[in-house]
Amino acid sequence: MLKKSFFALLIIGAFACSNQEKTTPEETASPMHQHEEAKAVKYTPDMVINAKDYTCGMPVTAGISDTSHYEGKAYGFCSPECMAEFKKDPAAAIAKK
Ligand SMILES: [Zn+2]
Repeated sequence: MLKKSFFALLIIGAFACSNQEKTTPEETASPMHQHEEAKAVKYTPDMVINAKDYTCGMPVTAGISDTSHYEGKAYGFCSPECMAEFKKDPAAAIAKK
């Protein structure tokens, strides 16, 4: 009889112990960092209204490395040089396209 109750006490003790361990909060700290601004802005052809680089005639789908805003519209260019050329006289560049 004495042995049996001692055994029961041992089991209860073991349960209490494991219960206590389970109550520790599970923290899911994600090591993922989001660096959205670290990357340079990638221009896509749908961001600009021109299909071709007005300076050199290259299609903007080949890659846009710079954009210029003229009269509220965005124009894409393959290079900052082409963009600079366009900026000298945007109206003429658009007219002759
Ligand atoms: Zn160009």
